[in-house]
Amino acid sequence: MSSLPPQVESFLSLSHELYINGRTVRSQSSERLTIYNPATGQEIASVADANEQDVDAAVNAAHQAYQSGVWRTMPASERERILLRLAELVERDADILAYLETLEQGKSIHIAKGLEVAGTLSWIRYVAGLATKITGSTFDVSIPMPAGARYTAYTLHEPVGVVAGIIPWNFPLLIGVWKVLPALAAGCCVIAKPAETTPLTILYLAALATEAGVPDGVFNVVTGRGSVAGNSLVNHPLVAKVSFTGSTPVGKHIARSCSDTLKRFSLELGGKNPAIVLPDADLEQTVPGLMLASFLNQGQVCAACSRIYVTPELFKPLSSALADAVTSMTVGAGLDPTAQINPLVSLSQQQKVSAYIDKAPLEAEHVIKGKHGPNPAGYYVQPTLIINPAPTAACITDEIFGPVLTLTQVADTDEAIRLANNSPYGLAASVWTQNLQAAMSLPRLIEAGTVWVNSHVMIDPAMPFGGYKQSGVGHDFGADWLKSFMHQKSICIRY
Ligand code: NAP
Ligand code: MG
Repeated sequence: MSSLPPQVESFLSLSHELYINGRTVRSQSSERLTIYNPATGQEIASVADANEQDVDAAVNAAHQAYQSGVWRTMPASERERILLRLAELVERDADILAYLETLEQGKSIHIAKGLEVAGTLSWIRYVAGLATKITGSTFDVSIPMPAGARYTAYTLHEPVGVVAGIIPWNFPLLIGVWKVLPALAAGCCVIAKPAETTPLTILYLAALATEAGVPDGVFNVVTGRGSVAGNSLVNHPLVAKVSFTGSTPVGKHIARSCSDTLKRFSLELGGKNPAIVLPDADLEQTVPGLMLASFLNQGQVCAACSRIYVTPELFKPLSSALADAVTSMTVGAGLDPTAQINPLVSLSQQQKVSAYIDKAPLEAEHVIKGKHGPNPAGYYVQPTLIINPAPTAACITDEIFGPVLTLTQVADTDEAIRLANNSPYGLAASVWTQNLQAAMSLPRLIEAGTVWVNSHVMIDPAMPFGGYKQSGVGHDFGADWLKSFMHQKSICIRY
């Protein structure tokens, strides 16, 4: 790794501990978590494996900061200014963050820079602006007693208090920002818990927040395992809300834990997202669009396309174009600028995805595999296209979260819709057509929180994002984003 920028080398060589009260704090646990480079399987750093006492210390720091009012009673324009200053610092250190992301997560350095860090900047700036747009309503109420009394009423939105932000490993920095920044903009104090495999960029971000002027205790990070640190956070009595992005099984577990104390929660969960290709689709647009949607970040994208349904007219040209595209993709390390497919995040993810690929020939008409990775010690899997799997095949029902795509021929549009909706998930979907009638009517028939037409996987801070069915509860993004981090209080005045 001799070609890394010196600031990246020096950050990796630090002894990474917890981030509490605006500084690095030694964990009370002697356990460590090793961080590996997915391209080589080699250790690049280690972080603290926080225990319950560590979580308690972080939550208490956040609670004290919240109670002190240092952040929630600050003028909203000042909170906005500080968060905009954080964006400037992320921009200053964009290359360092992108390298760290590629080194711990495996993704292409192009994607780390152009999508993850660039997206992080857009989302921070969007959400910073929401801090000054928190509004309530006034009401002309008609309370009849006592005789002759008049009332007026209005609502205030107040921060819920201490928020736990629990983050997955696929976009650790960008999704970290989605879990932390709206809470900060709303005036809450936060403890972030990154995934155990990818904690480095969020630790870096928390230190930048302090540099930007976020007061001590307002943004804390505990690194550790979900079963220990994550669980203790979710169950901590001083945590008022859990903002979670991750898998559906863990999301259900968190919902159950929160219900004991009626903590607020929002859950952005898994998906098994379909694309429907109609007879009049423009293949020149559709093939590259579906390849990006399915193989971006090696398919480790919650909204990724993973099931394509195509009517008979275009089955042959689409299957041969996708097969050509899958077999011609170059596979290599994220730091290799020519590699189109990179390693998966971890050995366990590589094993999980490989098991689906190994099983596919027993459950499908045809399986087409792309190139192997260059380093057998890296966590590579071959990009894979599965043609006409059985409707009950694991590759059709399960969220694989890897570079694995199915293509199924259907009789007609009705069958495509029926199969697309035949899933407990409902995160995202797409329709590919040049027909205005279909473009307008099909999205209404699909059970998913986001439906794209002639595109897939494109997101924006202004566009609300959330799941139908078992893909989640609540929404991220959009002008109302902060509301889920705030209580609504009615104030009624007699005059
Ligand atoms: P995960 O296993 O559910 O983990 C997510 C986070 O939860 C990690 O920080 C994890 O810690 C923690 N965690 C695990 N068990 C916990 C518990 N009992 N209590 C509290 N926290 C716990 O998901 P993942 O494998 O990291 O990420 C992939 C999943 O995320 C996929 O299902 C994907 O679809 C979903 N996702 C959804 C969206 C969306 O917006 N809808 C976006 C991205 C990803 P550890 O790392 O220690 O396990
Ligand atoms: Mg996990």
